[in-house]
Amino acid sequence: MASPVRTTCAYCGVGCGILATRTGDRSVRIEGDPDHPANHGRLCSKGTHLGETVGLEGRLLTPMIGDRPASWDKALDLVARRFRETIARYGPNSVAFYVSGQLLTEDYYVANKLMKGFIGSANIDTNSRLCMSSAVAGHVRAFGEDIVPASYEDLDEADLILLIGSNTAWCHPIVYQRIMAARERRGTKLVVIDPRRTETAEEADLHLAIRPGSDVALMNGLLAHCRREGLTEDAKLDVPEGFWDVLMRDGDLWSTARACDVTPTDLNRLFDLFAAHPRTVTLFSQGINQSLRGTDQVNAILNLHLATGRIAKPGAAPFSITGQPNAMGGREVGGLASTLAAHMDFAPDNVARVGRFWAAPNMATKPGLKAVDLFREVGEGRIKALWIMATNPAVSMPDAGRVRDALANCPFVVVSDVIARTDTSAHAHVRLPATAWGEKDGTVTNSDRTVSRQRAVLAPPGEAKPDWWIVTEVARRMGWASAFAYDRPADIWREHVRLSRYQNDGARLFALPADKGSNYSSYAAMAPFRWGGTPFSDGCYPTPSGRARLVPVAQALVAVPLEKWPMTLNTGRYRDQWHTMTRTGLSAKLARHREEPLVEVHPDDGTAMSLTDGGLARVATPQGESLYRVAFSDGQRPGELFVPIHWTESTSTGGRTGLLARPLADPHSGQPGFKNTPARIKAVVPTWRAFYLARDLNCSLPDTLWATRVTVPRGVLIELAGDGDLTALERMLPPGQRIEARDRARGSWRVAVLDGKGRLAAALFVSSDGALPPRDWLVAQLGEDAPPTLLAGRAAGSQVDRGAIVCACFDTRLVTITRAIHERRLLDVAAIGRALGAGTNCGSCRPALARIISQLEIKDAAIA
Ligand code: SF4
Repeated sequence: MASPVRTTCAYCGVGCGILATRTGDRSVRIEGDPDHPANHGRLCSKGTHLGETVGLEGRLLTPMIGDRPASWDKALDLVARRFRETIARYGPNSVAFYVSGQLLTEDYYVANKLMKGFIGSANIDTNSRLCMSSAVAGHVRAFGEDIVPASYEDLDEADLILLIGSNTAWCHPIVYQRIMAARERRGTKLVVIDPRRTETAEEADLHLAIRPGSDVALMNGLLAHCRREGLTEDAKLDVPEGFWDVLMRDGDLWSTARACDVTPTDLNRLFDLFAAHPRTVTLFSQGINQSLRGTDQVNAILNLHLATGRIAKPGAAPFSITGQPNAMGGREVGGLASTLAAHMDFAPDNVARVGRFWAAPNMATKPGLKAVDLFREVGEGRIKALWIMATNPAVSMPDAGRVRDALANCPFVVVSDVIARTDTSAHAHVRLPATAWGEKDGTVTNSDRTVSRQRAVLAPPGEAKPDWWIVTEVARRMGWASAFAYDRPADIWREHVRLSRYQNDGARLFALPADKGSNYSSYAAMAPFRWGGTPFSDGCYPTPSGRARLVPVAQALVAVPLEKWPMTLNTGRYRDQWHTMTRTGLSAKLARHREEPLVEVHPDDGTAMSLTDGGLARVATPQGESLYRVAFSDGQRPGELFVPIHWTESTSTGGRTGLLARPLADPHSGQPGFKNTPARIKAVVPTWRAFYLARDLNCSLPDTLWATRVTVPRGVLIELAGDGDLTALERMLPPGQRIEARDRARGSWRVAVLDGKGRLAAALFVSSDGALPPRDWLVAQLGEDAPPTLLAGRAAGSQVDRGAIVCACFDTRLVTITRAIHERRLLDVAAIGRALGAGTNCGSCRPALARIISQLEIKDAAIA
């Protein structure tokens, strides 16, 4: 048996430590690392199921030029030649890199160095632009440097935690569990500020369902209250003239309540809680950052903490938490177009300093194109060669249809990725196979500045190569061999450490310890460490005055519903999925939490708009439209819609959320405003509904009105709806022996296809009245000998619908849980865990279990 390898989770910015043990050629056992400071052994459902995602399904295993396999030499020569020729003909700003928070720091470092020091442009931006660049801009405005002044230990020591724009229970589950543990241990109060009543909000002492986009009004109102109560201290801050006058003029309780659309009573509860608890952490993420006013919203939070002294003390900090595993590492090397390197901007002395350090011939002297502008320039023909690394902008960028068109028209597109076919790589001239999680070696930095090693546990498959190697080989072929003469990631790491310290007299807080990874063996053994200690604890900030800055920020006009676009569209993540599902989508267990993209709508809106709970609806915005299954939810504010971001063209014919958001961005950070898009929704009534089950993992979606696919054990499940004839469905069926039942009068068609050994290879169930059997039992029959009741969709005499999955680890369903609660009088989440196991492994479903108990209590009380 192999020994466990200490590594780090592939997904979110919590950065949990993992013990990964190879159990076969392509299999890994996953456990939480008890010694890692981010998670102390715990993992959420996504991390727990990482082992199910290391197979080779869909992997790109050889370089491809067009649709033809090529040698590495040929592919790299071509990439280097086309970039060289483009730069020679049109200049350095005619090329660009679009990179990813999935890259390791070493990958990021060499890509940034190549573009900014050698090509001579700053046109390298990252998909982290979409997730936290407003926090970066806010930090720089307030502190003078992009420093997250918090750690996870602050959550353990806080008396009050404000979660703003963060569905922490779903998006950062281990942080959420840490908050829950603090509540249990020391009674920490929890306030959730979010227009939606999420599972995170349901556990809170107070939930303020504010009007979307009114965060600045709320924070300013809270700060004005603190000022009135004598809780502010600004002698050691840079305070612009008139700052307090404007704030006090607009920030009374009633005006704030009106602006935020909450009751003055609830608002007062927030004010009292904040005033009573100096140890306050305000944790925020995409709900704050992904806004056209994201940077102002960040600074409203930072103003509050700075002026009330809730910073640089145990349990007191503003805390921006990142979405991706290495968004912070990207910030540190300078992987955003708006920064240069190692927390330096494009000031002339910084450009000169970095140029000296790199011995760079062509230093970029000004910021490059941020993501939205970058793809606009691709579309307008000014970017003529584009290299996309480890990301899928054809799905994830706002106005993704336009991005797709831009890629299709770009003269030269390179995609380095682990996946053979993505919506983005469909437009690539060259595809380069990169190593995936479990095969890579390097470092990542999590949300609280803890640097951890990602270590390889599996051999690279096929001809896959690390991203740093691919970039370095291209750089060498472009003529800069000596500057990119790295043999291993440790060589790059050491250079990164040296640059962070180079001519750094303390003016930059980002300075990695010189002794970390200083030779190959210490790099190999490097334990997680947090750089920067407790920033600002000496009261000094890296600004010209040495003081932090209060930044005047005013609430922008909140958009009013428009006649044509009466709804507001909000986007976000599901608990068990990650980004565009290229990895989590491989896990059958994770897929079952939410099998389709849903549009959540308040029941009153649904009824008024003639929608049906469980029916289909088309969501349209000025950019585009997508189709979703409707889910009525009283957690939505009336007038608002919520859709998930995960489905792509290859997993859904309708539910592509990226088509809907506006290509507009915050003026300071360039972060796209994914939240609060004007929208409308309309019911779509198909003439038939169907589902298709198949063992063939590669079966493609048919050309029907609605088709979405997820992985199930031993196959795929495709939910379908359409108009007219069923020819497209007929074409999906594989060859084999058919068992068929058709009732034309009632519009019902059920067909099973058996393989040569009589085992179920595929099943198609179609209904014109929507009556279809539950999927569970049929899914379990895939690959099994066909039972006689196959076309009934259930075992003889049994009731098989166990409802939606709640606990992915133990495959515990809603019906099982509700029955057990009633029959065994289970009164809390712990009792459910003891009885069924649910919630006792990763814990991601505990908020859902609590919600089920409370809903049953309400129902039972009503019946009593
Ligand atoms: S919270 Fe979950 S997804 Fe995030 S790093 Fe930890 S295990 Fe991975």
